[in-house]
Amino acid sequence: MPNVLIVVEAQPNGSLRKATLNALAAGQQIIAKAGGGELHAVVLAKDAGPLANDVKQYGVKVVHAGSAAHCENFLAQNVAPGIAQIATQIGAEYVGCAATQVGRDVMPRVAARLKAAMASEITSVNADLSFDRPMWAGAVIGTVKLSSKVKCFSVRATEFPAATASGAGEVKAFTPEAPASVGTKFVGFKEVKSARPALTEARVVVSGGRGTKGDFKDIEALADELGAAVGASRAVCDAGWQPNDLQVGQTGKVVAPQLYIAAGISGAIQHIAGMKSSKTIVAINKDGDAPIFTVADYGLVGDLFKALPELKAAIKAAKG
Ligand SMILES: Cc1cc2nc3c(=O)[nH]c(=O)nc-3n(C[C@H](O)[C@H](O)[C@H](O)COP(=O)(O)OP(=O)(O)OC[C@H]3O[C@@H](n4cnc5c(N)ncnc54)[C@H](O)[C@@H]3O)c2cc1C
Repeated sequence: MPNVLIVVEAQPNGSLRKATLNALAAGQQIIAKAGGGELHAVVLAKDAGPLANDVKQYGVKVVHAGSAAHCENFLAQNVAPGIAQIATQIGAEYVGCAATQVGRDVMPRVAARLKAAMASEITSVNADLSFDRPMWAGAVIGTVKLSSKVKCFSVRATEFPAATASGAGEVKAFTPEAPASVGTKFVGFKEVKSARPALTEARVVVSGGRGTKGDFKDIEALADELGAAVGASRAVCDAGWQPNDLQVGQTGKVVAPQLYIAAGISGAIQHIAGMKSSKTIVAINKDGDAPIFTVADYGLVGDLFKALPELKAAIKAAKG
């Protein structure tokens, strides 16, 4: 009966990052498929108490709350020792987190400390406790079985439901170990302030590609009409037309909104890897043979500079 430990991630304001709930759900699936076990979570922060109290309601037996000054900014090098410490203390067989930018940084360090094999970005937990994960930018799905004593994993949040509140677990405080030497120092945090929702949390995303020629006016206007986040292809970010944090895809963010509108995006496999789990995909492209149409639920062959304003006007009119 394995113990499963999930690393909790906070948003910059200290509240729970939603993707952690998906990682907790993956932990619950491991326990269900193993026929039993305990779900634990670990929170590391300057003051881990408030977040640990929030997390305890999500089907977790124990939330380990490690408060220490060196954990304040959740730098991978600083928090990895505390995570490995709790994993060892509870005899965790599985240690996981959400495959966010932070999780991708932290979990390999934890795996190295625990001498654990690791599966990144798992998309499902199989009956024999093997994991499925995308490889080759999602062109193939590999099934991997980890054979080390401790097994680490990161969870593609869009592929698991969010854990729901189901009774209160226990919170246990502990003193997290600090790294032997600190090679990384927190200098500052430059928050990108936007009135729009965060890309990975938005219900609707309107994304633009090279077809925009860098002019995102119509993309942004439609996004604002829909209360949507704005996304972009790598071509757009590499050209410096939009900031890198808007990039969707293999080397950008993975999103799975209810509605994803791709305008002037060809649909390269690396872009599709980041948005193909969206519930409904709408593509606007003037090339009817563009690969984006192979994943689109609705496709419009046409000029985005004509189609987007028309779409926005129609939505506005429908709202009344
Ligand atoms: C290792 C690796 C990782 C990568 N990671 C990513 C990633 O994370 N995300 C990502 O997006 N890409 C990624 N890429 C790049 C990817 O291969 C493509 O080059 C990129 O997605 C292309 O962006 P695009 O679709 O905007 O541009 P293009 O491929 O140039 O497509 C532009 C499209 O716009 C259409 N168009 C032009 N004008 C109009 C108009 N007026 N109206 C309507 N349609 C119009 C064209 O028909 C065309 O289909 C990666 C590549 C590599 C090698």
